[in-house]
Amino acid sequence: KLSRRWISSSQLTVELTKDTSRFDSRPTKEELLFGTTMSDHMLMIEWETTNGWGTPKIAPYQNLSISPAATSLHYGLQCFEGMKAYKSLDGDESLRLFRPNKNMERLSNSMDRLHMPGADFDRKELEKCIAELVKIDEKWIPSGEGYSLYIRPTCIATHPFLGLASPTSLLMYVITSPVGPYYKSGFDPIRLTADTSYVRAWPGGTGNSKVGGNYAPTMKPAAEATESGYSQVLWLFGENREVTEVGSMNLFFLIKDKVTGKPELVTPPLTRGDILPGVTRDSILHLAMTWGDVDVSERFPEMAEIQEAANDGRLIEAFGAGTAAVVTPISCIKYNGEDIEIPAVGSVTQRVWDEITGIQYGKIEGPEGWSV
Ligand code: PMP
Repeated sequence: KLSRRWISSSQLTVELTKDTSRFDSRPTKEELLFGTTMSDHMLMIEWETTNGWGTPKIAPYQNLSISPAATSLHYGLQCFEGMKAYKSLDGDESLRLFRPNKNMERLSNSMDRLHMPGADFDRKELEKCIAELVKIDEKWIPSGEGYSLYIRPTCIATHPFLGLASPTSLLMYVITSPVGPYYKSGFDPIRLTADTSYVRAWPGGTGNSKVGGNYAPTMKPAAEATESGYSQVLWLFGENREVTEVGSMNLFFLIKDKVTGKPELVTPPLTRGDILPGVTRDSILHLAMTWGDVDVSERFPEMAEIQEAANDGRLIEAFGAGTAAVVTPISCIKYNGEDIEIPAVGSVTQRVWDEITGIQYGKIEGPEGWSV
């Protein structure tokens, strides 16, 4: 390993902002709106063919200057991550990341799927640079339950070329944004429409990568869902109408077994490549497997099964899972012109929330390496 070719946190340079006005005019905790306020600094690391990864830099938050021919702007050669830093609620307000190694792994896989050079970056080193960035903007993280610093690592091709080719230059950058509680007062269940005309992802596609190209095509179906009075889209796949994901979250159902009556917590498997490997999803599977009172399985339920279970009163809970909200209860799914109603928030949804947020905020001890 030549040190210049790899991301090296020991070479990190820091230029602090001299401008206090952004911090002074930031919204209050109560006024925070997701994704609108950026903190003072950003991390930038360039990659180019000759030297590989350059020196990581933390600099004041700033606009980028890139060529209008940059391939990220034309062919979607970009990918990103979404993770959070939390201030502990166990007294010392120490800063915590939740399973950041999973985000580094997924970023590397997304880059690889786009055939971006540099996809084999040293994950631990990027994680250390991000940890430095979080420490530098610590004062931007509001204290208290539900508050956090949303972290958005992004990698774009800066290569100015109108042809489609593996980029000769990339920019990895990380920006951060303080966020408030997703739920102001208790859970806010969502109503879904199960769309049969649009497909989010398919075997062999990019559904398991966090690339921008997966998101732009969801805007129109999402707008149509909203226009017809539903909050988000339940994405189906195939002639059997298998359920896959919801909006931009992974999906869980709690279904009572027809014969034994034992509850089964079900989420679609990662085997086919059309499901995003969510960090929250993986965490829920790990935790639920230790409970013992529910069966945990990874399989694709079909809409017919969901409908039948609902008719029999065996569909007990349904929720989306992701970094932004942790869990989002689902109260209704419109399918074939009919509303399938699902009972309000159940005890498993609540238990998942309590355990995951408990670990994120350092109130309870999670598995080794989860809260860093
Ligand atoms: N599915 C999609 C399509 C997503 O964009 C996200 C958010 N990254 C998730 C699932 C949930 O993933 P995570 O738990 O890592 O936030």
